[in-house]
Amino acid sequence: MNKRYSLRKRILVTGGAGFIGAHLCRRLVEEDNDVLCVDNFYTGTRENVADLLARPNFELLRHDVTFPLFVEVDEIYNLACPASPVHYQNNPVQTTKTSVHGAINMLGLAKRVRAKILQASTSEVYGDPTTHPQTEEYWGNVNPIGPRACYDEGKRCAETLFFDYYRQHRLRIKVARIFNTYGPYMHPNDGRVVSNFVMQALRGAPITLYGDGSQTRSFCYVSDLVEGLVRLMNSADEVTGPINLGNPNEMTVREMAEVIVRQCGSRSPITFAPLPADDPKQRQPDITKAQQLLGWRPAVALADGLAPTIEYFRSFLPSGT
Ligand code: NAD
Ligand code: UDP
Repeated sequence: MNKRYSLRKRILVTGGAGFIGAHLCRRLVEEDNDVLCVDNFYTGTRENVADLLARPNFELLRHDVTFPLFVEVDEIYNLACPASPVHYQNNPVQTTKTSVHGAINMLGLAKRVRAKILQASTSEVYGDPTTHPQTEEYWGNVNPIGPRACYDEGKRCAETLFFDYYRQHRLRIKVARIFNTYGPYMHPNDGRVVSNFVMQALRGAPITLYGDGSQTRSFCYVSDLVEGLVRLMNSADEVTGPINLGNPNEMTVREMAEVIVRQCGSRSPITFAPLPADDPKQRQPDITKAQQLLGWRPAVALADGLAPTIEYFRSFLPSGT
């Protein structure tokens, strides 16, 4: 039985038509909240939320968060920002504006309507880390003038703004530092490692390993991540974060290539390409805080997360492939 309209929580999700946003919107709609998805469709699509459009408690608005927005909401999940290095480096000035002006606009909105606000920050605030695994106390090692800086420094500045609004205006804030996440609804051409490798493996094309593939990442399935975000939003007001959300299961990118080729039943060979500038050499979240404060840890094993991901990407291939 649906809650009365007035009893529903009104939740704004910026970047809600993107990969993580689409999963989050689906979860919040299923829980009978009144969800407003705001997106400028830079990397997200209407198709990602097409199944929600007919739902009475879901609304989709085309809007760029670098411009102010005035809506009455109780909670804001601020996810708007391209996450793939290829996309965020394509228009770096817009990337910084999205993080910084977007944060100012959403924090201003939260202040005006007294909403609780969660920021989708990133492990990239640690840059190319000199400590391992990364805890929230680590201040990071970011090149402020490199090609990744538009994203890394934009997200760092957004964190600064969140904590200044918290201290100065007593806003209820939540900052999640998200580590590499994968799953269905990732854009098949977005250039990230999981989408690239799966599409290449399914097509029988060479797997493009950047550098020698010894750099490490830790991959979290999207349903686990969404559970962490929702728990963080619903946590006590004192829990501001920053809190790492990711799967500590660290592996080299080369191992990831081999796992994906095997699980796709592919015979793709590996081909080597230059390592992009400032590509972090190792990344693994310390999730002690998330475990203690949110009772959260990832539950989905890599093979179980890759199975639906591979099926999703298969749907982009010509039928019969
Ligand atoms: P995504 O690119 O699939 O989604 C981002 C969404 O934001 C897209 O729908 C895009 O169109 C929208 N967007 C971009 N600029 C906008 C603007 N100016 N105004 C309104 N909408 C805008 O990326 P994702 O993987 O879903 O990432 C979501 C959030 O999580 C991002 O903030 C990202 O930085 C963060 N994050 C993701 C990962 C990951 O591994 N996926 C890791 C760390 C942090
Ligand atoms: N990578 C790769 N081949 C690809 C795409 C990415 O070897 O086709 C590597 C990339 O250099 C990085 C890792 O995979 O070391 C993860 O890249 P991604 O762009 O997914 O995210 P990042 O963690 O770097 O933001």
